[in-house]
Amino acid sequence: MLLLYMRPGSYAICLKRMLDDSHTQALSLYLHIPFCKARCSYCAFNTYTNAEAHLPAYVAALGNELRWLGAATAQPIHTIFFGGGTPSLLSPAQIAYILATCRAAFHILPEPEITLEANPFHVTDGYFEQVRATGVNRLSLGMQSAHESELRLMGRDHDVEALPRTVRAARAAGFENINLDLIFALPYQTLAMWRESLQAALALQPQHLALYALELESGTSLTRLIERGRLPLPNEDLAAEMYELADALLAEHGFVQYEISNWARPGWECRHNLQYWRNLPYLGVGAGAHGYANSIRYAIVRPIPQYIALASGQEQPLPFPFTAAVEWHETIDAPTAMLEHLFTGLRLVQHGVRDSEFRARFGVSLLDVFGEPFARLRAQGLLCHEGEAWRLTRSARLISNRVFAALL
Ligand code: SF4
Repeated sequence: MLLLYMRPGSYAICLKRMLDDSHTQALSLYLHIPFCKARCSYCAFNTYTNAEAHLPAYVAALGNELRWLGAATAQPIHTIFFGGGTPSLLSPAQIAYILATCRAAFHILPEPEITLEANPFHVTDGYFEQVRATGVNRLSLGMQSAHESELRLMGRDHDVEALPRTVRAARAAGFENINLDLIFALPYQTLAMWRESLQAALALQPQHLALYALELESGTSLTRLIERGRLPLPNEDLAAEMYELADALLAEHGFVQYEISNWARPGWECRHNLQYWRNLPYLGVGAGAHGYANSIRYAIVRPIPQYIALASGQEQPLPFPFTAAVEWHETIDAPTAMLEHLFTGLRLVQHGVRDSEFRARFGVSLLDVFGEPFARLRAQGLLCHEGEAWRLTRSARLISNRVFAALL
C-alpha cells in the first residue's frame, strides 16, 4: 500500500540511505531479566515466578550473547537498560558482571545512561549503594498507585509505604535520576484517587514519570475478571479525564510531556526509550527480548531453560545481529521502515516527525510519501503541522492507535 504513495526511484534511494546509516549509529542495549517474585494481575510480559534457581546460568548466558554481539559489530553503545521482569532480583555482583561484560565486548560511549528497573519490596539495605557502584545511574521504580486497594487489585507485591522508603534509599545511595511508573484507568479508580496517586508521586520529586492506561492483555487474571463482569472498567471518558488531569498537574510541577505516556523535567528525558521512539537501532538480549539493527527486527526465544541452552551453545560467529538464541526475525524494507518511523516518531508529542529528518534518513520528502493520509488526518483534527513538524493533536494522543491504523 505504502509503495503506491512513493515516487518511482524513491525505493532504491531509501534502501541505500538505510544501509549507509546502519553501520555508524550508536546502539542501545536492552537486557531482559524475566524473573518475578509474583505475577501481577495485569501482566502479560515474558516473565516467570519461582524460577530464580536459573539466575546464575541465565546471567552466564546473557554474558555469552553480549560477547557474540560485541564481536560482530563496531557500533558503539550509548544506553543500557535492565528491564523485566524484575531486574532488581539480580545481585549487585551479577549486575557488575553483566556490565563488565558489556564494557569488554562493546565500545561504550562516554556518560552512558544505564537504567535498572526495580520493584520496591526487593531492595535490601546497602543494595542501591552497591548497584550505583557498578555504574547504573538511573532507576525506574514500579510505583503504580498510592492506594493500597489498587496495589492489591493489581497483585503488586509491595505496599504503599515501600515506595517512599525505596526512593529515600536510592537518593541516599546517590541516584539523581529516578523514574516512577503509574497506572490509571483501573477498576473502581476515581478521578480523586488518581489525583492522590499523582500527588504522592510528585511529592517524591522524581525526574521522570511514565503513566500508562491499563491495557487488558489477553490471558491475564485481571482481564478474565473484567470479561466475566466481576470487575468494572472506567469508561473512555473517565480515562481521558485522568490523562488530562495528569498533563495539567505535571505541567504545574515543571514536567514536560515529551511522549504519549512519558513526562520529564527538562533534560531528564529517557535516552534509552528515545532510541525506540526515534526508530533507531537497539540490541535486545535475554529470553523474549526484541531487537532491531542492520534492518533486521528479531526476537529471542522466550522460555528461560531454552534460552540458557541456546545461548550457551553457539560455535560459529553469526551475521550481526543474530545469535543462536534468535527464534524469529524479519527484514525491514524501506516502506516498512518509513511507516515505523512515523508510528514511533508521532509518539513524540513535542518533536513529532520532521521532513528534514525523514529526508536525511530515507532520501525522500515526508509529504511525497505520506502527503495524502496526512492531509486527511489533518482535516479530521488528528494531526497538526507547525514549521516542519507533524504532530498528533492533543485529542489524538489518547487514540493514537486509531491514527496509526489510518496510516496503514
Ligand atoms: S513486576 Fe512487572 S514484569 Fe513482574 S509480574 Fe509485575 S508487571 Fe509483570
